[in-house]
Amino acid sequence: PPLHRQRHQFVLDFVKKNKPKKVVDLGCSDCTLLKKLKFHREIELLAGVDINGATVKKKMRALAPMSTDYLQPTYDQLRVELYQGSVTQRDARLRGFDLVTCIELIEHLTLADVELFSAVVFGYMTPKAVIISTPNSEFNALFPGVTGFRHSDHKFEWTRAEFRSWAMKVCLDHDYEVEFTGVGKASPGQQESIGFCSQIGVFHRLGLRDSCNTALADSGDDVCSYTLLHSI
Ligand code: SAM
Repeated sequence: PPLHRQRHQFVLDFVKKNKPKKVVDLGCSDCTLLKKLKFHREIELLAGVDINGATVKKKMRALAPMSTDYLQPTYDQLRVELYQGSVTQRDARLRGFDLVTCIELIEHLTLADVELFSAVVFGYMTPKAVIISTPNSEFNALFPGVTGFRHSDHKFEWTRAEFRSWAMKVCLDHDYEVEFTGVGKASPGQQESIGFCSQIGVFHRLGLRDSCNTALADSGDDVCSYTLLHSI
């Protein structure tokens, strides 16, 4: 399957295994991933955030319940909330989630904004788990004719070492651990030296016992900087 589907499938597999109840997709674009997540019945709250409100609105109708959903009243109700906002800004409504996904977004931020993003997601939202995907620049050697970035709006593309060093610092600063993986394999001979086409970091919050309440009490502010576009 195409790479964008493989990235979303990675998230779906994680959800199947870990059964998060509250999930937010940052940089949700036209809600493609949210539409797939909607069918996972363990999820009670599904949120999406994108800086581009028009793109979010374009196809969000498909997130509305289908008539068959009403025929299964034994299932818990799912709530969907779509926001326009920037991942560099805090919003109290997105704190305390079980899973934050961020697929092919960070490379669209300046490095200064990546710093803000890290503080917002890992320091403020403090979810139990975070999945981040971004291009692996080492893989670009396999794209004939690509000399710059894969996309003109990318502000950077990281090697595995660069992604790793950013992720390790985030973990130290905010008490998370991370595992590295990816999707889009090179040929077996090249996999080791080049890595995956999209690199993925899966983060888990450490010291989960009482940190949820402490983290929420610590910051004390209940800022709402995002615009609620739709709630279903
Ligand atoms: N996550 C989707 C996917 O898996 O296909 C879309 C990825 S698209 C390459 C990047 C998305 O990030 C765009 O929809 C863009 O509007 C959004 N974006 C860029 N900067 C953002 C920011 N500061 N805050 C929130 N979303 C942002």
